[in-house]
Amino acid sequence: MEVEGVKEEVKKMKQDGTKISFWNDIWVGVSKLKDQFPSLFRLSSKRNGWIADMGVCNENGLMEWDLGFSNYLNEYENIQLQTLLSLLSGKVFDRSKEDVIQWVHSVDKVFTVAEGIRVMLSYNLVNEVDWLNIVWNKFVPTKIAIFHWQTIQGGVPVKEVLGYRRCLRDITDDKCGWCLSHVESIDHLFLHCSWSHKIWSALFNWWNVCWIIPSNILEFSLEWSNGLGMKASKFWKLIGPVTLWAMWLARNELVFNGVYLCGS
Ligand SMILES: [Zn+2]
Repeated sequence: MEVEGVKEEVKKMKQDGTKISFWNDIWVGVSKLKDQFPSLFRLSSKRNGWIADMGVCNENGLMEWDLGFSNYLNEYENIQLQTLLSLLSGKVFDRSKEDVIQWVHSVDKVFTVAEGIRVMLSYNLVNEVDWLNIVWNKFVPTKIAIFHWQTIQGGVPVKEVLGYRRCLRDITDDKCGWCLSHVESIDHLFLHCSWSHKIWSALFNWWNVCWIIPSNILEFSLEWSNGLGMKASKFWKLIGPVTLWAMWLARNELVFNGVYLCGS
């Protein structure tokens, strides 16, 4: 059985760099480089490369890194790159030793079964996401359910996502069209913008519900599908995804047609 998360409990020790994924293993700092530098990870053409694939040692014994960026990096990405390179500075490889895996929970870094069981039990294994209930329930039209699914998966083409995909016409134009002050991310547009906040507040007042909006769409969807402490009716399960869809249509009216549909 593979348990997501337990993989985080091992740390691969860099030796010759031939068995450690540059982006997907923990070898610099406390988390994967793809999590520390998500923008750079998306831009790299070597997302599955080993460390040894990403750099060569020059005659001075210093590493020269080639992380597989074929496109021009914008100012923000360049800052991220310089931060990453400073993390990598001084990293050298010992070609005479193979990479090894260490268990992070013991002083001697050696895995034991007892320790493994303790860590596994600490995970809430029963709390798996019920996608059938949250997204694909029969009360929501398929088109809207697919859209809802895309919001959770981070696939809706808001400006932040377009920036990652290098599809933003003007890379400096990444602000939310409603508040003009925050980057238009999925969580901001649908949950945290003052505009979307007005819409949710009106909805909660209508239903006489008191709720603090969660930090991201997945948490929002989990709590919404559970009825926020009420009995989740068919109608209630429909309202959340439909509101997200209506917000997206309104956003597109603003971005493409300049039509401002105010929430108040
Ligand atoms: Zn906004």
